[in-house]
Amino acid sequence: MRESVRDRLLAGYDGAADRDGVSGERLAERLATLASIGETEDGGVNRPGFSAEEKRAKEQVIEWMREAGLDVRMDGAGNVIGRLEGKADGLAFAAGSHVDSVPNGGNFDGPLGVLSALEVVEAWKETGYEPPVPVEVIIFSEEEGSRFGAGIMGSQAMTGDLSREALTMLSDANGNSFEEVIGAYGTSVDAFLEAARDPKEIGFYAEIHIEQGKLLEQAGLPAGIVKGIAGPAWLNAVFRGTAGHAGNTPMAGRRDPLVAAGRFVHEVSSLPARFSDTAVATVGKLNVSPNGANVIPEQVALTVDIRDLDKTARDGLLQKVRETAERCAADSGVEVLLELASSIDPVPVTDEVREELGEVFEEAGVRPMEFMSGAGHDAMILGRHVPMAMIFVKSIGGISHNPAEWSDLEDCIAAVHLLKRFAEQRMEKMAAHED
Ligand SMILES: [Zn+2]
Repeated sequence: MRESVRDRLLAGYDGAADRDGVSGERLAERLATLASIGETEDGGVNRPGFSAEEKRAKEQVIEWMREAGLDVRMDGAGNVIGRLEGKADGLAFAAGSHVDSVPNGGNFDGPLGVLSALEVVEAWKETGYEPPVPVEVIIFSEEEGSRFGAGIMGSQAMTGDLSREALTMLSDANGNSFEEVIGAYGTSVDAFLEAARDPKEIGFYAEIHIEQGKLLEQAGLPAGIVKGIAGPAWLNAVFRGTAGHAGNTPMAGRRDPLVAAGRFVHEVSSLPARFSDTAVATVGKLNVSPNGANVIPEQVALTVDIRDLDKTARDGLLQKVRETAERCAADSGVEVLLELASSIDPVPVTDEVREELGEVFEEAGVRPMEFMSGAGHDAMILGRHVPMAMIFVKSIGGISHNPAEWSDLEDCIAAVHLLKRFAEQRMEKMAAHED
């Protein structure tokens, strides 16, 4: 366990929210235990998807799931499903998140969702509450996309949204194919594809996640309601020119792909505002080769991340980004290859679910603030097939994907109570519909 994480969490916690079987200390200890798996020097974690560290984190949670009385299995995509039977059969109420991280990521993005869902089950166990329908706590594999540049893989495997063709095209930064990586993880491409479930097995999916923004902090609220998730599109662009010696090649006639890419990156930043108030476009990854101080580059590969709540606006922006890449390449006399690496439609939360969540928040004395999620989550994948809900927890300073990521235990526990109450009400409705 990483004592510093546990101590800091508990130092700011007065225990007043320890009721109905929910324990702040248990959640703090579990967050601190996961924080020690793949820990980095500056307080973060390295748990890339399908790594030994991600697997160890899953194994630790599996142990806790079993202690809590869950029936646990791992599917061919490495997703962990801990199941508690309900008073009646039928569709399951599922909740969870992921335990993989970005390089040197934080200790809350993902683990909080998994451990909060487990905390709800622990609370039910302690109070003798029997859920009316089956409950599942799920850890999805490789959510962050730090391994193959294509995230939310476990949830897409479960919903059957990944094809064999898409998988065989993937390779990681070390040049290992998806087949090699998944083989080393102890599974296979076939088994990965077999992880697809009948969507009818899950009746509802809920996820607690840190906000990764500052709206809740500014509003002074512990948690908020996600009204929809903006769909990201990832466009890969490879600018290709001619390498040459920086000293011996005259400026005239150079075919420098970095000049084209630089112009492109600059222009992309002004495009989203032309399409909507909420649209965003980001170049966060750029590889220059051969990447030598005295060499005119031969190739520059980059990825543009494009998002909006409105699919029409997002697709219009995507098209404009493509045209801009082609023009910047032509202006510098280089080639550009464009490939849409992934495109996910925005997923709204239904009015019925938002109203239900709003009532649960009000009952708990928390003003129900609603906002969109600009980040993709496993709930976005599940939400295309089953009704879903997301509760965001206040992030201190809005910092995320960074060792400094932090949420106070009091706010995390407030979200656990909100999820617990919501789940109880939702499951009653689900059970009533079965009859
Ligand atoms: Zn996450």
